[in-house]
Amino acid sequence: MPARIIDGKAIAAALRAGIALQAKALPQPPGLAAILIGDDPASAVYVAGKVKACAEVGFLSFVHRLPASTSEAELFDLIETLNQDSKVSGILLQLPLPPALDARQFICMIDSNKDVDGLSPVNYGLLAAGLPAAVPCTPLGCLHLLRTVTTDLQGKRALVLGRSTLVGKPMAELLVQQDCTVTVAHSKSRDLPALCREADILVAAVGRPGLVRGEWIKPGAIVIDVGITRGADNKLHGDVNFAEALAVAGAITPVPGGVGPMTIACLLFNTLVAACRQQGRVVPKGLLDHDYSLCADASGRNTRGRVAR
Ligand code: NAP
Repeated sequence: MPARIIDGKAIAAALRAGIALQAKALPQPPGLAAILIGDDPASAVYVAGKVKACAEVGFLSFVHRLPASTSEAELFDLIETLNQDSKVSGILLQLPLPPALDARQFICMIDSNKDVDGLSPVNYGLLAAGLPAAVPCTPLGCLHLLRTVTTDLQGKRALVLGRSTLVGKPMAELLVQQDCTVTVAHSKSRDLPALCREADILVAAVGRPGLVRGEWIKPGAIVIDVGITRGADNKLHGDVNFAEALAVAGAITPVPGGVGPMTIACLLFNTLVAACRQQGRVVPKGLLDHDYSLCADASGRNTRGRVAR
């Protein structure tokens, strides 16, 4: 039997609908500020997509377009202004930055209450400590997709291909917290096919189109394909050979239409959570069926406990 295809578009649409309802109930609409520096066309497309998504759920969005020549001081000033702006619930620094700007130090400048990408060391540390945190949007979305297939994750063997701060490492952390037995593989790992064949859950976040072959996949495994690479055919390709995997896996996300839409929906979710907290409102329950997406306060302390159920 061919694998069940996990419909990320539909699952993300349901999440966005819930977010829109919750946003309406707030005294002030959530606001997302995006900082776009330089002329990278892909970044411009991503930011435009996020602005459109904000409008669809009733959020405000504020796009700050800066030239590639922007100085460190100018970027620091902008982030500080946005940190103080009560209309801004979340701040998104679109990566990559021009080479003269070190993304890491600017991410550290973002108030952790407004770090809706979950990339600041405060949120990263909270996640690693097993405390509520703003979780990076892509792994948060992957976990949600996975849990639409099964919530019975205890003791499952999970393989995360890729160890980036953006996807691989937080994904592994979330899976450990779901009681999976997790292996993280990367470009120096040996015998990827053998590692893959042991996995009940396979998350591929590598950026090498078609790397994972059907014969690498354990029959019945759940496959979450994070990879997005535009091919010479101008189409988007995942890290998994989809046609081959379909015949072996139990469930699989397509590319496009799998993880991508969930990443944006989770950005909206993190922004909603940040807005609720900043406006002293209870964080809505039931939008995601797990409860990691709470921000710490600016000092790094988690002051409000877990999401009410
Ligand atoms: P990244 O920072 O470049 O990390 C890639 C990881 O893959 C690294 O850990 C690297 O290992 C590993 N790797 C590279 N080649 C490998 C190979 N042949 N075998 C095993 N491991 C290998 O990329 P990323 O930001 O995590 O993104 C990964 C992919 O996901 C990209 O295609 C990206 O476009 C996509 N993505 C999609 C979404 C979405 O919303 N769908 C969001 C974010 C990213 P080393 O650490 O040893 O170098």
